[in-house]
Amino acid sequence: MKAVICGAGIAGLALAQRLDTLGWTVTVLEQAPAPRAQGYMMDFFGPGYDAAARMGVLPAIRAYGYQVGELTYRDDRGRRRASLSYARFARMVDGQLVSIMRPDLETVLREALPDRVEVRYDARLTRIDQHPDRVEATAADGTVHRADLLVGADGIHSTVRRLAFGDEQRYLRHLGFHTAAWTFDDPEVRAAVGDDFALTDTTNRQLGCYVLRDDRVAVFAVHRTPDPALSADPQAALRREYAGLGWIAPRALAACPPAADIYYDQVAQIELPNWSDGRVVLVGDACQAVSLLAGQGASLAVAGAYLLAEQLARTDDDITAGLRGYQTLMRPLVAEKQQAARDGMAWFVPESPWRLRARRLALAAARLPGVDRLVASALVGKSSTLPRSQPATRRQDRTTR
Ligand SMILES: Cc1cc2nc3c(=O)[nH]c(=O)nc-3n(C[C@H](O)[C@H](O)[C@H](O)COP(=O)(O)OP(=O)(O)OC[C@H]3O[C@@H](n4cnc5c(N)ncnc54)[C@H](O)[C@@H]3O)c2cc1C
Repeated sequence: MKAVICGAGIAGLALAQRLDTLGWTVTVLEQAPAPRAQGYMMDFFGPGYDAAARMGVLPAIRAYGYQVGELTYRDDRGRRRASLSYARFARMVDGQLVSIMRPDLETVLREALPDRVEVRYDARLTRIDQHPDRVEATAADGTVHRADLLVGADGIHSTVRRLAFGDEQRYLRHLGFHTAAWTFDDPEVRAAVGDDFALTDTTNRQLGCYVLRDDRVAVFAVHRTPDPALSADPQAALRREYAGLGWIAPRALAACPPAADIYYDQVAQIELPNWSDGRVVLVGDACQAVSLLAGQGASLAVAGAYLLAEQLARTDDDITAGLRGYQTLMRPLVAEKQQAARDGMAWFVPESPWRLRARRLALAAARLPGVDRLVASALVGKSSTLPRSQPATRRQDRTTR
């Protein structure tokens, strides 16, 4: 069996490794000219952590991991107003947590691929043609790739989804925030931040900094806005939006680079009734984006990729049954994380001073035994592991059709 995977992000690379292990021939098409260096820190825990362990990549992921001291909220002069220690957060998820930069996670997954998996960069998918016995994916340079299955692992603004299922507006739920990430060099800010993930303790907008292994400072910014449309000039928009914040914010904003070096997007979720159509299937953010508010999109991307490959293997060459099994297993988990993210929005970036105060109190209470589990569940939803697959035979399939 042959698969073409569109997108060499977290979901695409994880799926390429699994399908190859299960005997598929795999080609990955990636629109970027080379592995993307831009990124942000992610907490990697939950179902994807289990999947990574089963894939054998967990030791490498841990090797790239960061030891973050505390998540601290600071006032205009840098004084701590609230905090949550990462050690405590790790205990809340039973120690199964790694803080890792997105490009580092991709590096681990890419390096886990054998040479026989072809990863083509500068290969943007632009067209899909489905036939009863095959699917054809056409890249921008006109190359046609034929396969038994085409996988859209091309992220929240998926082209595969648009071509196979229709316009983004039908499936994208704007959560009312824009977010941005960039890096800069500044020894003074580096010294002020130390080994914390230091965020402003502010309403409606929040700017945070943490220090990378190479001593650069990484910025994470998120602010409320009802308008999903993104500015054509993110540098100017971000400077305007975060103007007036104190402590290290002015230095971070002064160092904000031009558009090409900023990650900048709306905060959104993707909900669509079917994740597959014929020989086309979606994986990762393309079908199940939970948003950064859930803090588990990468984890769910790896989990989804793992389960998709497993279901395809269990149903042998009955692709339809495998795709159905994958969606049945994955969807409830995604729905729960999406709901948890929406429920937590008010706390993530408080809208009012009283909510800000309430968050401080909740984080202080999280130091108490017992309360910490409640705070963890408010932060990340129910504690979840990789859903267990039922062997999906073709006979079962026909009866459930
Ligand atoms: C600021 C921020 C913080 C986050 N924090 C966390 C966290 O703490 N924990 C966590 O688990 N998750 C977190 N996430 C979410 C996580 O980053 C995503 O859920 C995850 O990256 C999704 O992976 P993916 O492979 O599905 O998509 P992506 O990472 O978006 O990869 C898609 C790939 O497809 C390529 N592509 C797109 N279109 C085409 C095309 N037409 N042809 C070819 N290639 C194409 C893209 O170039 C890209 O390489 C965070 C996200 C943000 C923005």
